[in-house]
Amino acid sequence: NKISLTKIRTEAAVTLDSQQVELMGNIELPQDVDEVFENGAKSVGLFRSEFLFLSRDDLPSEDEQFEAYKAVASALNGESVTIRTLDIGTDKIPRWFERGSGINPALGLCGVRLTLAQPHIFQTQLRALLRASAFGNIQIMFPLLSESRQIRQCVQHVELAKQTLREEGLPFNENIKIGGMVEIPAAAINVAGFLKDLSFVSIGTNDLVQYTLGVDRGDDQVAHLYNPAHPAVLHLLSHVIGTANRLGKEVSVCGEMAGDPRFTRLLLGMGLRKFSMHPASLLAVKQVVRTTDTALLGEKVSEIITQDDEDLVAPLLDALNV
Ligand code: PEP
Ligand code: MG
Repeated sequence: NKISLTKIRTEAAVTLDSQQVELMGNIELPQDVDEVFENGAKSVGLFRSEFLFLSRDDLPSEDEQFEAYKAVASALNGESVTIRTLDIGTDKIPRWFERGSGINPALGLCGVRLTLAQPHIFQTQLRALLRASAFGNIQIMFPLLSESRQIRQCVQHVELAKQTLREEGLPFNENIKIGGMVEIPAAAINVAGFLKDLSFVSIGTNDLVQYTLGVDRGDDQVAHLYNPAHPAVLHLLSHVIGTANRLGKEVSVCGEMAGDPRFTRLLLGMGLRKFSMHPASLLAVKQVVRTTDTALLGEKVSEIITQDDEDLVAPLLDALNV
């Protein structure tokens, strides 16, 4: 199977009815772009920048971060890289991070909440990102948003970082695109409001499933309840993708669902045309894209996303994939 898939490495990600689909890689460190290229993708839909902050005692300096972001941006030859700002506090915890007193870290000071509370860390990273934007096609993305005010605060932080760079005469892309992650149900439900101030959204299904179902994504004892095909999750996905498409804004999925070929047709049927995933999944997903006629998906997908019982979803999903 692996061998036969490598044959489509250089083929286009296009459906039988000529729909162009963008398949992008998720990376954790700059050197991971090699694996993205090896698997036939050209752009990066999610660079999890927090990995630059892990396995060390101190914070990475602005210059260190700049070099890492610049390396990826230059390697991509003008194709886009979406770099997510520091996303820590739940499963990924650096040594310097002090846990709060709450008993639910995933509901505490994590993701963008943490960087908004630590303006110094935020400014250092934003300056590094902006400086690197002079060397390639960088987009900035904020994780774990729950309200519009956070977006406005993030935009203000970007403006401040731009201002300091201007004063120092350092080059950056004035029109850098700013997007956000949809990972909390409130963000999914209210995505139209979010899109007033964002150029794009990317759906982080790993967290969206966790927060929608109230199931810890890393807890084995409740792993049987962690179900991306739950009707409530599918309802939110369909709402976010449909709303963004209607508003003419870019939308992608960058959680595990994007790299699971079992969900490729369903997501295409919801209107998704951008998928970002672990590089190892790229060819398997491309294979499904190339054997799908989206014009034939409508009725079956509507039937799946209007189910209200998770046990009814599974057989319909299987039928969609034959
Ligand atoms: C997600 O939540 O789906 C996501 C892509 O972010 P992470 O897995 O890094 O939390
Ligand atoms: Mg997440």
